[in-house]
Amino acid sequence: MHPTAAQSISIKRNIIKKMCNEHVISGTIFYGDEPRLIEGYLCVKDGIITEVGTDSAVDATLDGLVTPCFINAHTHIGDSIIKDPPLSDLDSLVRPPNGLKHRVLGESLAFDLKDAMHRTLNDMIRTGTCAFCDFREGGIEGASMLADALTTPTYATGGLKGLIMGRPQHPERPGKDEFDALVEVCNGIGMSGVNDVPFEVLQIASRVARRAGKLFAIHGGEKDISDISKSIELEPDFIVHMTHASEAHIKQLVDADIPAVVCPRSNFVTRVGSPARPPIARMLEMGVTVAAGTDNVMLNSANMFSEMEFLSKVYGLEDRQVFNICTLNGARVLGLAEQLGSIQEGKQAKIMVLDKRSSNLSNSHNMLASFVRRGRPDDIKTIIN
Ligand SMILES: [Zn+2]
Repeated sequence: MHPTAAQSISIKRNIIKKMCNEHVISGTIFYGDEPRLIEGYLCVKDGIITEVGTDSAVDATLDGLVTPCFINAHTHIGDSIIKDPPLSDLDSLVRPPNGLKHRVLGESLAFDLKDAMHRTLNDMIRTGTCAFCDFREGGIEGASMLADALTTPTYATGGLKGLIMGRPQHPERPGKDEFDALVEVCNGIGMSGVNDVPFEVLQIASRVARRAGKLFAIHGGEKDISDISKSIELEPDFIVHMTHASEAHIKQLVDADIPAVVCPRSNFVTRVGSPARPPIARMLEMGVTVAAGTDNVMLNSANMFSEMEFLSKVYGLEDRQVFNICTLNGARVLGLAEQLGSIQEGKQAKIMVLDKRSSNLSNSHNMLASFVRRGRPDDIKTIIN
C-alpha cells in the first residue's frame, strides 16, 4: 500500500531532501566529534557541510538547536508486521526457528511485510535517524525486499541509508553458495547466535563476508554468557547486545578491537536487561566502542530519542557518552564515520534542527542535557536528510 497523498505531503513538508543550493543554518550547534556546543552558523551546499563558524550575524534560512541525525546500529524491521506481541521471555519471542517473530514472518505475505517495512523506514526518518543497520531474515528474498523498500521513490526514503545484514533462509543449514549470494546483495552477514547455528557455518559466514569486503556481525551475550567467547572467536565487525559481558569479556573485546552494539530497551522488554546490564559504563571506561540500536520493531519503536532517554536515565551515563553512542559511535561501528555521525566540515549534512523554544525544550540551561534526556521528535523543526 502506498502512503496517502496527505502522508506524502506531510513527509515532504518536514524534510529537506538533497539540497542543491546553499543553505545557512544558525543557532546552537553540536559541533565536532566530542561534541562542543557553539553559538554560530553552518553552511550546507549540495548536501555537504561546507563551513561552520561562530559569527551570529548571518542571514540564516533556519535557526534552532542543530544536531547530527541518529545512527540506529541494530534493527530488525522485518518484524514491523507485529506491533503488540505478548510480553514474554526472549526465546518464545525471537529465537529461531519457532519464536513468535519467525512464525509470523513465515506466515505473512511479502506485500504486507514490505508495506510494514516502508512505514518503519518513514518513521525512522521522521524521528531523526539518517542511517541504520538491519539484520534481515528470510535469505536473499528477505534482503531484496528491504533493498527494494529503500530504493522505491514513492516512499520518500531516499535520504535514509540502510545497511542490510542478510542471513540464509535456514541459517542452521545454508544452501550451497548461499553466503556468497547474500554478500552480493547485502552489506554484510548478520547471524542470530552461536547457540542457534553450528559453529562451522558461522566460520564460513565470517570468512565469506570478509573475503567480499563486507561486514560480519552476530548477536552475543543477550540471554547469558554462554555464547560470548565463541562470538568473539569469530572476530566479527561488531557484537550485538553483550548484555551479560563480564570484565574478562570486555577486556577481550578491547584486545580484539570489536565494538558492541547495545539494545537497552529491547533487553528490558525481553527481561534480560537491568540498570547494570549491559555494563555500558564499564565498556566505555575500558575502551570499547559502544553504539546503540532499537532492535526488533515488534518490541520497541525505531525512535532513537526513546533509546537515548532510556540510556541516560536507566544507565546513568554522562550526557556526552549517550549522545556519542547514538550518533558518531554508530557511524564508527558501521564504517560510516567519514561521512556521517557528527557535524564537521566535509561530512554529509544529515542534520536535525530542533525548536529550542518548544514547550518541551524551553528554559533549558544545558542544551546537550536537554536533548539527551528529554528531546522528542515533536521538537524537530526540520530534518535535512
Ligand atoms: Zn537483534
